Amino acid sequence: MREGNVKHYLVRPGTRVRLDHWDPNDTSGFEGVKDEGRKELDRLSVRLAELQELLYAEHRHAVLVVLQGLDSAGKDGTIRRVFEGVNPQGVRVVSFREPSALERDHDFLWRVHAQVPAKGEMVLFNRSHYEDVLVVRVHRLVPQSVWTRRYQAINEFERLLVNEGTTVVKFFLHVGRGEQRRRLSERLADPTKYWKFRGSDLADRRRWGAFAAAYEDVLTKTSTPWAPWYIVPSNHKWFRDLVVSRRIVRTLDGLRMRYPPLPARYRSARVS
Ligand code: AMP
Ligand code: MG
Repeated sequence: MREGNVKHYLVRPGTRVRLDHWDPNDTSGFEGVKDEGRKELDRLSVRLAELQELLYAEHRHAVLVVLQGLDSAGKDGTIRRVFEGVNPQGVRVVSFREPSALERDHDFLWRVHAQVPAKGEMVLFNRSHYEDVLVVRVHRLVPQSVWTRRYQAINEFERLLVNEGTTVVKFFLHVGRGEQRRRLSERLADPTKYWKFRGSDLADRRRWGAFAAAYEDVLTKTSTPWAPWYIVPSNHKWFRDLVVSRRIVRTLDGLRMRYPPLPARYRSARVS
């Protein structure tokens, strides 16, 4: 992938997203050279591990990575591959499922705010507060008058996090309809994948158009200068991982982190 290619997947704030203008098969700069892509990913994994240790050591920034995408887009696979080298002590994965009765009795950001990263920490959201304007909208779980107000609440919430020292990066893993068909069929054909299958995957697949429209609104209304969305071509898993990995490494590099110096009172200390 040539320099600048990650930018290419950025949703520029204020632009209207039409998903059929974004190719889920894209492998720009890497056509036919999957092996080279894999090698770059290995190098990025090493760098990510170094940067994550620095994040932990410096204890100044917090990093929130949001992963969204339709069923089988690869949220779990991305987490497994991109973060395989990092120290589990500094990284936490939070998977958001159907809210509990207690969670439903609060505002939709209540359970989310409780899980955001502390200083020095990196948190990966496998699904997120965006479900509250995605599945909730498509399945009509709350009235339209309620979910339409949530985009602004989300933007303000993320603004608060950023103002207080959190870096927020959001990825939409964009899988094509044919590729999703292949992946869901595999879940029904491979005994080691049965566990991933849910009846709701098929029901949601039938609502493809409604989910696409809901995602287009999310990407259009909530890609902000402080918390931008990246649309990651995800039909090729190796390329998806590469785009995510490269973006995260660049973001962490951009924080210009430093290991904390030895406090003055220890400068003359000797270990006897
Ligand atoms: P999975 O990611 O396969 O474990 O599935 C989690 C399920 O929880 C998905 O069907 C999501 O749509 C659903 N889910 C996540 N967040 C919410 C939410 N806020 N309201 C309703 N359903 C949700
Ligand atoms: Mg699932």
